[in-house]
Order: sequence, then C-alpha cells, then structure tokens
Amino acid sequence: MGPAMNVGFIGLGTMGQHLARNLHRAGLLTGVWNRTTTKSEAMASETGCKAFGSPAPLAAACDFIFICVSADDDLLSVVEALLPGLRKGTIVIDCSTVAADTARRAATRLATVGAALLDCPVSGGVEGAKNATLAIMCGGDQEVFERAQPVLAAIGKTVALLGPTGAGQATKATNQILCAGVIQVVAEAMAFAQAEGLPLEKVIDVLGKGAGSSWYFVHRAPFMVRGDYPAGFRVRLHDKDLRICRDMAARHGAKLPVVESTLADYQRLLEAGHGDEDISTIFRLKSPLFAAGK
Ligand code: NAP
Repeated sequence: MGPAMNVGFIGLGTMGQHLARNLHRAGLLTGVWNRTTTKSEAMASETGCKAFGSPAPLAAACDFIFICVSADDDLLSVVEALLPGLRKGTIVIDCSTVAADTARRAATRLATVGAALLDCPVSGGVEGAKNATLAIMCGGDQEVFERAQPVLAAIGKTVALLGPTGAGQATKATNQILCAGVIQVVAEAMAFAQAEGLPLEKVIDVLGKGAGSSWYFVHRAPFMVRGDYPAGFRVRLHDKDLRICRDMAARHGAKLPVVESTLADYQRLLEAGHGDEDISTIFRLKSPLFAAGK
C-alpha cells in the first residue's frame, strides 16, 4: 500500500468548490471546512465527505490540506487555525494568490509543527478549475513536491516546481503582469479599430490568426465589441494581484509602468462600480480616448 492520501480542503469559493470536486472524483477528498458553513455542508452532502466545524480537526485527519482563500491575511489566519491540529509531515498546498513573502511566512509557521507548505497558485480561470486543466506553479522542496504529485494531478494538467517556497507565487505574479499588458493593448487596439470604422468581428477573426494575437484578444475582444463584461477574471481580483506585483517589484527598487497604469485604470473602474466585471471592461476607458479629438 502507498502512503496515506487523506485530503482536506479549505475555501470552497468560486475556484475552491471545483478543486474539491475534482479531488472527490479522484477518490481523495476526506473532508472540507469553509468559513460560511452552508458551503461546506453542501459539499459534504454532495460528495459524502465530512464537513468539519473548524480547521484544526480537519488538520488532524488529513495528510494533505488544500487552501484556496481570497488574500494574504486570510491565508495567514487559516494557517494559524490549522496549527493546533497539524501532524508532522502533513503537506499544506496553498492555491490562493498571495505575495511570495506571505508564502514564506506561512511556511515558517507550519514548520514549527513539522508541516510543509507548497505554494501552488493556479492559472486557467474557473473553466480550468472545473475541467481540472489548470496550470499549477509550485514553490517548495523537491521531495515535498514529489509527494504531492498525485493530489496535484487531480486538479491540473501542467504542474511545475519553479524553486523554493515563494517561487510559485513569484511565477503567478509574472503571469499577472503579462495579463495586465495584454488586456491594456487589446483594449487600445480595439478602440483604434472602432475609431477607424472597421468591421470589428472581422478584425478579430483575421488578427486572431496574426502575430499580435493572444488568448485575451481572441476570447475577450468580443466582450469589447458587445460592451458586456460578464465576470470571468474580476477587476477586483486582478487589482489585488497587481498590488502584490507592485510591492514585489518595489523590493528590487523598480516601478513598472504597465503595472502602474493598469492599477490607475482599475482605480477608476472600481470607483465607477465595475469591480466585479471581467478585466476586459478596461475598454470603457480606451474608447473615449478617440472622442477627445473630435
Ligand atoms: P472567492 O469566490 O471569493 O472565494 C474565496 C473563498 O475564501 C471563500 O470560500 C471564502 O469563504 C474564503 N475566505 C476568504 N477569507 C477567508 C478567511 N479570512 N478565513 C476563511 N476563509 C476565507 O474567490 P476565488 O475566485 O475562489 O479565488 C480564491 C483565490 O484564488 C484568490 O486568491 C484568487 O486570486 C485566486 N484565483 C482566482 C481565479 C479566478 O478566476 N477566480 C483564478 C486563479 C486564481 P466564505 O465562503 O465564507 O466567503
């Protein structure tokens, strides 16, 4: 018989509920805890796993514990709540997006009871979570990473160890900078094409096959044409991530122009009540640029 594989899950939000379901499908899910108990009770009755009343008893029952909560302070408070129940050798897998430094702080706290952290932020959105096709960027010890392979394989398709604790989060921050630049330029290009009076759907078809294309151009430029931005990747969440990128860059003495201009744009969008729309809503700020000269 191989090593024990009891898996617990904490944070059954938009992403977490799908991750937990995929662990259940793989026959791995032992129990769940969620701050709002209705969600954990629903998951327990759906999958037959146990709904724990608090994190510590879940920790005591599990060999692997996934966490997928909103932000840095949330992760740290969940880690504190786990500590009294954790056993030596337990692996905590954090799929939240937080700063690399926060991952290192969490790892230090877990090490006091002999538990290990893998920072495992994910990319691929809700669709990727649902279909278990996420890209998972890991930071931690090689040996811990190898032990976690079978459980990570249940939630994602591309799993890579990028370096020690924090390296997964640093890679995720790199991805968030890419997304900022791409969504900015897709919106500017579409505003330009609109001002030129071009047939926008055709422009997307043709340029979608050109050298300047990207996932965001193909999948989100149509949102701009329709002027409808249903929640995919919320402005509010990307704003949080870009603040992490800003702080991490500042540690190197750097200020990144694309990050700064995107944060300034998001500030305007948040103030105008667009925080829960997809980030392609940035088009709202680009098309008026062409009205200025008229
Ligand atoms: P979400 O729908 O807002 O869910 C957040 C979850 O965290 C909920 O279960 C919430 O519990 C729990 N939570 C928040 N603060 C907590 C605290 N202090 N203590 C205990 N539980 C707490 O968020 P999400 O979209 O699933 O995102 C989760 C993480 O994944 C974020 O870091 C996000 O940046 C990252 N991510 C999201 C996406 C995406 O497309 N959505 C993609 C990649 C990565 P309640 O139910 O009680 O509120």
